[in-house]
Amino acid sequence: MSVLARMAGSGHEQVLFCEDPRVSLRAIIAIHDTTLGPALGGCRMWDYAGEEEALTDVLRLSQGMTYKASLAGLDLGGGKSVILSPGLLAGAPREALFARFADFVESLGGRYITAEDVGTTVEDIQTVAKRTRHAVGRSLSAGGSGDPSPLTAWGVFYGIRACLKEVFGDDVLKGRTVAIQGVGKVGMPLARLLAEAGAHLVVADRDPQLAQTAVWELGAREAPQDAIVEVPCDVFAPCALGGILNDDTIPHLACRMVAGAANNQLLEPRHGKMLASRGILYAPDYAINAGGLINVDMERRPPYSVEAARKRVERIQDTLLAVFQKASQERILPFEAAGRLAEERIGQARRARTAKPSAASAARG
Ligand code: NAD
Repeated sequence: MSVLARMAGSGHEQVLFCEDPRVSLRAIIAIHDTTLGPALGGCRMWDYAGEEEALTDVLRLSQGMTYKASLAGLDLGGGKSVILSPGLLAGAPREALFARFADFVESLGGRYITAEDVGTTVEDIQTVAKRTRHAVGRSLSAGGSGDPSPLTAWGVFYGIRACLKEVFGDDVLKGRTVAIQGVGKVGMPLARLLAEAGAHLVVADRDPQLAQTAVWELGAREAPQDAIVEVPCDVFAPCALGGILNDDTIPHLACRMVAGAANNQLLEPRHGKMLASRGILYAPDYAINAGGLINVDMERRPPYSVEAARKRVERIQDTLLAVFQKASQERILPFEAAGRLAEERIGQARRARTAKPSAASAARG
């Protein structure tokens, strides 16, 4: 299928292909929808098998950002960028590549705002920020908000509390068991928050040192990597990779709810239905993991304060409760309700925009 046909199918506004062999840069920037505001989304650097895989990823991720921003009540649209750079992964100069990438971001005039993502760092964003204003998640020392992961964890923590309230009628973590898959940048601070609140933890990570840190520091129990989905628990929190909720894993889940940070947890939408048929509540990923996005949005309105960001991120608990309420009122599943809420907000903004006469036409009239 042609790129334009794919864009039409998913409602993308603009896709920019960027190439500069002098710095081994091959990148794609996708702007999904700017109805609510400029498209904000991280820059992912990955060793993609090829252009096709990278395009699929950037289209899917940027669309997800539109929903995430809308549901979180932000005046932002959805965008994302991916860098395919085997040359860089093999040791080409990183700073030159990100400087060039910044020029492409700048060429979009603010329609796309970039940030850190898988494979990129706060330092990379610093490099980008030297050449364009349209980069967030800059280092704390440069007046930015730093790594967004702790705020993502903060939001997941409040999201888990919303799920507990929905299933058990209270949001008390003391005595509850949470199984965390992946104790990386988000999973580890989440584990700390849960341990402080008195939850029992079971963890697994591909990196044995990270899992061991959770064991020593937090008294967590370690599960083998391939057994974490089967651990009997109240909450299964996927904080590693996408697609973890699929035909192979769902029959083995032994939890009452799935609530974690990973993006695109459902391999396919039908897996949301499969979870429900097993009586498992699913917190839509883009609703519960919006803390990092909310945090970088607050960086755009200086002065940034982490306390204020935390307060704003805590509202994820209310967002999820609203999602569950809509799901029960409309007899649909939470992931469908989240989608409807996000689309309704965009639809209202679109209608308001078309209904309002522009300043020029008002003057003419
Ligand atoms: P990370 O790379 O720091 O952590 C992921 C961890 O999962 C790593 O420690 C890795 O070793 C482990 N892992 C990978 N595969 C695994 C497996 N099969 N079993 C067990 N462990 C495995 O990434 P992160 O920043 O913590 O992000 C985690 C997830 O949350 C990702 O899906 C990311 O897209 C999503 N997310 C992150 C943020 C953020 O602010 N960092 C925001 C929104 C969503």
